[in-house]
Amino acid sequence: MKIEIREVTKKYEEKKAIDGIKMVIPEGSFTVILGPSGSGKTTLLRIIAGLLYPTSGKVFFGQNDMTDLPANKRNIAMVFQKYTLFPHMTVEENIRFPLESIKEGKLFKSRTYTDEEISKKIEEILKLLHLEEHRNKYPSQLSGGEQQRVAIGREIIREPVIFLFDEPLSNIDARLRYEMRTWIRRLHKLLKKTTVYVTHDQSEAMALGNLIALLNEGKIEQFGTPDDLYYNPINKFTAQFIGNYPMNFIPFKFKDGDLYYNNEEKIEVPKNILDIISTRKVTKGDIGFRAEYIREYDPKKPVDKEMILIDCKIEDTEKVLDQHIITLKHLNHQLFFVTKTKKEFKKKEALSIVIHSDHIYVFDNRGKRIQI
Ligand code: ADP
Ligand code: MG
Repeated sequence: MKIEIREVTKKYEEKKAIDGIKMVIPEGSFTVILGPSGSGKTTLLRIIAGLLYPTSGKVFFGQNDMTDLPANKRNIAMVFQKYTLFPHMTVEENIRFPLESIKEGKLFKSRTYTDEEISKKIEEILKLLHLEEHRNKYPSQLSGGEQQRVAIGREIIREPVIFLFDEPLSNIDARLRYEMRTWIRRLHKLLKKTTVYVTHDQSEAMALGNLIALLNEGKIEQFGTPDDLYYNPINKFTAQFIGNYPMNFIPFKFKDGDLYYNNEEKIEVPKNILDIISTRKVTKGDIGFRAEYIREYDPKKPVDKEMILIDCKIEDTEKVLDQHIITLKHLNHQLFFVTKTKKEFKKKEALSIVIHSDHIYVFDNRGKRIQI
């Protein structure tokens, strides 16, 4: 089911938790809502779920306006970090339970099932979630991962058209987190249902989503594929938020056809970059580049015209096996450089770096990316 959010705003007193969001979540997609704490992710998800009513705007599922329908009439599944299984019911009984609520008219009913169909569906779900051998166990006899799978099974049985997840994997240990990520991904592959997944963790978003909406202060900064957000950030916010290391920025001024760091030292930049800054009449802004795309300057090789060369000093180094994370200082800017090498780096030593123009981003003084 396609989800369409039309100009949705949610105000708490005068504060806008969601500020005029417009977006289309395609049918069958795995869309992640990513953003820092307090950016409005939960609010947006709860509006999609029907647990919160927007101050203005509308929510459509397919062609249907859902804005006035309560959550239990929307045929959606919701998985949160905290889930409650019934302790006195077995795995099988827990999974069957929602169908009993449907019979009693408490939950959305897409159709009624015969007893035979119900048994078949439960078998399918137990198999899908690898819970067959645990069917007669009680929740207390299961591991955390198994319990979470039962909780998911209980959602699937209703055949919801949309799956909503709100940070289901935060605060659980790394091993289980990876295991559950795999389950969630597998589930989406098999069921092909539109999934909206909220997280503040960019690496989780990059690993799970085929689309990511990056939220900040109730607005969407960028909505695109993980590749789009990483390789083509449209602003500094996205460039800083996405990636294992925030993008490096160097502020510049453009004056009389040349580029300067802080008005002092001239920056020799590839001609295509200088041209675009000049034609767009950008007088101030930032040059950005990622820690992963920096190379150490080799004095034996001439500097390519396509490269920027920056002389720095090593401020700090961190080493994990053969990976070095080096903090550099150039004038008063701190830069991060990541490299894999057997070589050692020492604090206070000079180090010159080069970045190819293909990996250089230019932002204007409002933080908007200037496409080269
Ligand atoms: P996130 O899930 O991204 O951390 P939320 O959607 O929970 O963010 O919250 C967005 C903003 O709305 C925050 O500033 C939060 O303090 C505010 N907010 C959320 N719920 C309420 C509420 N019930 N009353 C007042 N303010 C709220
Ligand atoms: Mg939240």
